[in-house]
Amino acid sequence: MDDMGRRGQETPVVQPQMKNAEYSVEEIRTFLQEMSGRYDLARVVDPVECRILEFAEDGKVSMNEHCYGIWNAKQKCINCSSALACRTKLHQEKTEHFQDRDYFIQSNPVKLKLQDGSAFDVVVELVNVKGPGNAGANDREAENIGSRAARYLAHHDSLTNVLNADAFYERSRDMVTNRPETPWVMITGNIMNFRLINTLFGVFKGNEALVRTASLLREMSEQARGLCGRLGGDQFAVLIPQNEYHEQALQKIAGKLTEIYSSGMFTFCIHFGVYMIDNPRIPVSVMCGRANSALRTIREDLTRTVAHFDDSLLQKILLEQAVIGSFEEALRDRQFKMYLQPQVDRDGRIFGAEALVRWQKPDGSIMMPGDFIETLEGAGLIQKLDIYMWECAVRQLSVWKGTEKGQLAISVNMSAKDFYSIDVYEVLTGLVEQYGVECSLLRLEITETALLAEPEKSLKVVSRLRERGFFVEIDDFGSGYSSLSLLKNIKADMLKIDMGFLHEISDRERSRIILRSVINLAGDLGMEVLTEGVETEQQLQCLSDMGCGSFQGYYFSRPIPVEAFEAKYAAGK
Ligand code: C2E
Ligand code: MG
Ligand code: MG
Repeated sequence: MDDMGRRGQETPVVQPQMKNAEYSVEEIRTFLQEMSGRYDLARVVDPVECRILEFAEDGKVSMNEHCYGIWNAKQKCINCSSALACRTKLHQEKTEHFQDRDYFIQSNPVKLKLQDGSAFDVVVELVNVKGPGNAGANDREAENIGSRAARYLAHHDSLTNVLNADAFYERSRDMVTNRPETPWVMITGNIMNFRLINTLFGVFKGNEALVRTASLLREMSEQARGLCGRLGGDQFAVLIPQNEYHEQALQKIAGKLTEIYSSGMFTFCIHFGVYMIDNPRIPVSVMCGRANSALRTIREDLTRTVAHFDDSLLQKILLEQAVIGSFEEALRDRQFKMYLQPQVDRDGRIFGAEALVRWQKPDGSIMMPGDFIETLEGAGLIQKLDIYMWECAVRQLSVWKGTEKGQLAISVNMSAKDFYSIDVYEVLTGLVEQYGVECSLLRLEITETALLAEPEKSLKVVSRLRERGFFVEIDDFGSGYSSLSLLKNIKADMLKIDMGFLHEISDRERSRIILRSVINLAGDLGMEVLTEGVETEQQLQCLSDMGCGSFQGYYFSRPIPVEAFEAKYAAGK
């Protein structure tokens, strides 16, 4: 630092800027060596992590100490010029004044190409230091700047400059409490598929979108004399008086952002959830939660922007809470029952069944999976139910083993969440070993969503399970978004087509063409085909003619308790 200070007494010289292009490690090293003779400091920083990059002799790059260490030992800089350079891809200049010195900083955005061919955005910083000056006065000023900066940083998000989550909650509480006569509205915003922006266009584009979103929301909140905060990631919140709330204003913001950030391969979409605060005493986090609940009802919908929290949503939330609250006890009390829906071949013979869960409440009523599976998935509980159901199925197979039902297979459902939360391979192999059941009789129904959530991981698990001898079925084929690209990547034993997705097509000839093509495609890829949702004799006939060999649907039987299934099987023999 002393050395830097001495040389920095001269007036800083602005050097020709480095071009905003791609450089190898070697080129950057040479450039830095040259510049270190002319500047007090020449270094490369990664403004995402705020760290200095270190270049080893062998070309390896590693992250070193924080770049802000030279002028402020503890915190990130407010309005960092290098982060701005990286975001805008433009050369930036700035003077930081700190502890009796002026730091004249040039930030040059470049791409650093690593030995493995990958490249990432960094900034070459060239710094000259001027000082010391009038130590006493400057120290006081520096102290002021330091404490002001620290205070600001404690309450604001360093990227977007709006309030951070804690400060937003705290100030919102003050605002609704101090102005009780004002009715307020809580708005939350969330960018759809935000992670994709980072993946497709890079972190800086992602950051830029966040900064732009925040500034539009802040402008709105300031005009209404309200508050704006970033709750984390791509989640924003705004608190304004109800009489200042206009849905069109949100539509306008969303439209502007979509216009700026959409491209051929990506449609930018921001959703807003709105909660008209009717009870200002509930925690601010609950107010945000209510706005978010409204937002979640449209989060997959590109055509909608704003959703309002209302009574029916409140009922739904209460129901979800009841499901979550009573789940563990219900599992312990074995209230979840395995129902079996027969799967039959072309001759009407039962060769297996799908296990479908039913929640039998202590009062005798039955709750259908559609009313609780999604809630359990959202609450991170679904894997417990799935493991329980897999065990019911394996236990049933062990009961049938050695009897006339010994060749019957049972298909079990798997949720996308199972793949992240448990070691699916370990659990399933453990179960078949424990009960001494042949794994080919336990069929695994996996949906496209399950495979798309974490494709690399889940595809690996699925192929290991197949190698081990499990029979893998792709469930609900055609209802997802990228069915064909999925078929390219996954090897499965059976494709289950749900008739349901064809109901939406009014043109029967078109439905027939689609079905026939999918059946042929599966055959060409070496997969069996089962059509589920078969309800009429006519559908059965038509599907058989097209070459489908297995069926499931109300035409044969609804899902029924195990004893009823066994009776049906015995009667059909
Ligand atoms: P799925 O796996 O596609 O199961 C087929 C659903 O279609 C079942 O609904 C079944 O009753 C219904 N179905 C069968 N035949 C017909 C028919 O001819 N017409 C019509 N309209 N519907 C028919 P269910 O039992 O209500 O289950 C709904 C979904 O819940 C299942 O869809 C599955 O995704 C999920 N699910 C059920 N049990 C479990 C489970 O134990 N774990 C997990 N993760 N999900 C489960
Ligand atoms: Mg299924
Ligand atoms: Mg299905």
